Amino acid sequence: MSNIIVTKGDVERIPAGKPELLMRVTSFKATEEIQKQLYDQILFLVRRVGEGTQCRGCVLLRLVIVSSDFHNEVRYWQRELKRAEGTTLTPEAETGGKTLVWGDGRPDFTRGIIIIPDKVAAGLLIKQGSHFQKNTGDNLFVHELTHVHTGYLLRNAFGEISPSMNNDWIGIQKEIAISIWEEWFAELIANRLFPVQFGSALSGTISMLRSGLERIDRSRDLYRINEDIVTLWAKAVDEISLIFNQFGGVLGLSCAAAQKDNSFLSRLVNEISRISLPWSAILGRLHDELLAIAQKEDWSSGKFSELSRLVQEGFFACGLLPIQSERGLKVHLI
Ligand SMILES: [Zn+2]
Repeated sequence: MSNIIVTKGDVERIPAGKPELLMRVTSFKATEEIQKQLYDQILFLVRRVGEGTQCRGCVLLRLVIVSSDFHNEVRYWQRELKRAEGTTLTPEAETGGKTLVWGDGRPDFTRGIIIIPDKVAAGLLIKQGSHFQKNTGDNLFVHELTHVHTGYLLRNAFGEISPSMNNDWIGIQKEIAISIWEEWFAELIANRLFPVQFGSALSGTISMLRSGLERIDRSRDLYRINEDIVTLWAKAVDEISLIFNQFGGVLGLSCAAAQKDNSFLSRLVNEISRISLPWSAILGRLHDELLAIAQKEDWSSGKFSELSRLVQEGFFACGLLPIQSERGLKVHLI
């Protein structure tokens, strides 16, 4: 395992277009040959995804870290970049990687790093197996790579985006809306280039929605006893964000697949309607809005306002009615 400590300053000295690779793995022996193979594959993917204009921000990737201690590595970088700490941890979520982008949006002053768990790196090295098996590692890495691009685009349009406070309802809606779009775009590009099976994304979405809604219900039950609205609200924001991210991602995948088979969206909406009718309606409208956003070059502040409205619908569907006033945020239960 490499014990080199790399800092934000070190990353900022790496030139654009020449990303470096850092291996901190214990699960397999990262011989020089393996490192070279992995590095070549990463460079190949950066060039493949970055070619043309659709994902030109990929070249701002400076460092890829492969880690057997993924969550701690992510935490280290979040601290280094003064971000909120923590990775998404739900029983349903499988983490493919974490991308962090910083800077003011000018190409020379914007940088990205990608941290991937060792098993994703192992996937990038697979040469044999079925089409889908071979694609999985590349698909996960390309997903992260597109986040470097969207991180750049967002900073370029809006500057550095600070995370919203728990009592900033407009900010929360916008943050979730942007994240839906980023997940949609990441899965669209990843699955156009390296398709993976739709079935597992579909079942992942169903179980994520079902368990997310159950956890929100349990928190509401708890609230009836302890009347702790702050805890209920924080939990609901987390869970609803996860559901929306998952929706964004699976819609991106279904869009990518639609060139060959356009039955995915209707299957998706159908399956979701068995769990929740309001959420299946939201899913359909998200699909339309994400396509509308993709058609427009516009980067004004209203770009994500319709998505923000749909985020609000998600909170309503969970029986939460947030009302922002000058005195703060009040959350009513409906
Ligand atoms: Zn993502």
